[in-house]
Amino acid sequence: MADIGIDLGTTNSVLAFLRGGPEVINIKGKPTLPSAIAYEEGEFLVGNAAKNLAASSDDVIISPKRHMGTDKKYTVSGKTYTPVDFSAMILEECKKAAEELLGEPVTSAVITIPAHFNQEQVEDTRKAAEQAGLKVGKLLAEPVAASATYGSGGEDVVLVFDMGGGTLDCTVVDTFDAKIAGLGGDNWLGGDDFDNRIVDRMCKILKEEQGIDVANDEKARLRLKSKAEVAKINLSEANSTQVEYIGKMDGKLCQVEFRLTRNEYNEMIKDIVDRAIQCAEEAVAKAGMTTNDIDVVLLVGGSTYTPYVQDRLSEAFGKEVSKKADPMLAVGLGAAICTRDLAWDDSTHRVMLRSRAEVWSEPTYTVRGRTTAGSKVSITGGAAPADTTADDNGQFTADVPLSENGVNDLNVEATAPSGETAKAMQRIRHDSGAEQVAEPDEAPPIDATLPRNYLIGLMDDHIACIVQEGATIPTSGESDQFSCQANPLPFKLQIPVYEGHFTRNDLPYGPFNTHMGTLFVNCPPTPEPTQLMLSFEVDESRAIRVRCWFKNDPSVVGEATLDGSTITKEGTHLIGRTERVLNQGGDRIRPDEKARIGRKKQALIDLAEQFAASNSNDQRQQIIQTGKDLQDDLRAMEQKLNL
Ligand code: ADP
Ligand code: MG
Repeated sequence: MADIGIDLGTTNSVLAFLRGGPEVINIKGKPTLPSAIAYEEGEFLVGNAAKNLAASSDDVIISPKRHMGTDKKYTVSGKTYTPVDFSAMILEECKKAAEELLGEPVTSAVITIPAHFNQEQVEDTRKAAEQAGLKVGKLLAEPVAASATYGSGGEDVVLVFDMGGGTLDCTVVDTFDAKIAGLGGDNWLGGDDFDNRIVDRMCKILKEEQGIDVANDEKARLRLKSKAEVAKINLSEANSTQVEYIGKMDGKLCQVEFRLTRNEYNEMIKDIVDRAIQCAEEAVAKAGMTTNDIDVVLLVGGSTYTPYVQDRLSEAFGKEVSKKADPMLAVGLGAAICTRDLAWDDSTHRVMLRSRAEVWSEPTYTVRGRTTAGSKVSITGGAAPADTTADDNGQFTADVPLSENGVNDLNVEATAPSGETAKAMQRIRHDSGAEQVAEPDEAPPIDATLPRNYLIGLMDDHIACIVQEGATIPTSGESDQFSCQANPLPFKLQIPVYEGHFTRNDLPYGPFNTHMGTLFVNCPPTPEPTQLMLSFEVDESRAIRVRCWFKNDPSVVGEATLDGSTITKEGTHLIGRTERVLNQGGDRIRPDEKARIGRKKQALIDLAEQFAASNSNDQRQQIIQTGKDLQDDLRAMEQKLNL
């Protein structure tokens, strides 16, 4: 049984597996599979065949990933489908290709997701995998996968600049401390915008020369777009290219043809690239760093082949960008590298180190890892050697004293009961005075961090933040205690669970955070008022378990796992939901409607700010009312536009 890695992309997906090193598995002869699905003559086509039909058929679904975590429904040939259904079709196509090549069943996979995905999007991805017959070994953050592919060049801080077809993700990864330090980006910025600039030029020429106006005709634009994309890709290699389209539109033959130089093209896309660079700088600022702190910029995503994008990045960061990996394949290959953790097979003797800590001033460091059960483990490279033995599960732990000269290269050697030996290395910085940094044998895996807080809603609109944004996964947290009234009879406690950025415990949480589900707890009678404790556990695949218990009786009284079936999609917080509707609705929303929704969103934000200063109960009520109004508006708009 083999494990595979899948980059389930918005525009393209990539499939890879580990054979010694990571290797891409071609799907229908190509290393990337367009994330498009078409319905033709009673069957679904996935990939290039579907992408090519986009301009001529209405039954083509592009980029279902964009709608993961939403209630969007598609109607195809009288039947209803969800984004999960289409993502599952893409994953099935990957599974099939892998099984053909490997000649054995494939049942589990590492699948990548954007680092900023919320819990609804995470759960939808998990559902799609299950629907495709794949067990999710791990849902891995895309920038973490990409940095695994690039490997360590001895740098401490890298910027993963991932510009795909329609999305830009900028992530600062601290490879020394093995964690994500800052996130930024734009969900509506990418190669499609470049294509659209060329399409605009084509439309202009068509109008001037032939009097055909298709600038606002989506189907016509789609046909022009495929030619524009070819021209764009040519310009990544050549200094100029021919842009041409000949075909029928509205029954009329139309023809556009012109020469586009790279300089002209760079000028056309300048403001888009300006914005992309700004996003990268914002991610760096969020990490509390400046561009000087970034040791290397890693190029990820097809749009980073664009020479102008590369030039602007090196200019902004004052250094050459890294071209060590293929940007289109880096995420998929990284997913394959991380199947290593899944393919743990007790018959292979090796050592995996899992410990991670900030040890700027600690004189000892705890090494944790896994190897063959019963192995003798010896660690050298610190101030003094340390020895330990792996337990029945192969887990081991040892406290190692560190030398104070900055970098400690800890060499861990495990000797199995059979006499076989295996080694691993970990690099630990004791203080910041390191001048020379040795290269590790293998880049340590980077931990993913939570993009949002996990909160619990308590009575009267109060919330408790239990696991904080930025925590390293897996993580867990316990609440302060909450009072629970006396109840003479058995009772049912309802505890709503939220996800979001807003953690002020006096702010009405409803409009600002996403409702993920409700924890129902059957409680025994409590003759006296009691203290209630709550905890969250988030595991590596971002599954969440919530528990609550009475302080004076710690036998657990309530437990719930939040998964796809518990999460309520309509609960998405209103600020994010407004932005999504405005972006996806685009020109289909009337300007006056756009202005109205925008005003309500702003009013909500302003009210929250005023409330923070005033703490007035009136304002609290106003927030709740404005939130309800906005929600009604959004619901109507989503239905009308089929978002
Ligand atoms: P996603 O992560 O959104 O699935 P990809 O990383 O696959 O996206 O990137 C797709 C984008 O890259 C498309 O807009 C495509 O036109 C663009 N692209 C692919 N090759 C090149 C190239 N050589 N030069 C410029 N853009 C390219
Ligand atoms: Mg991608």
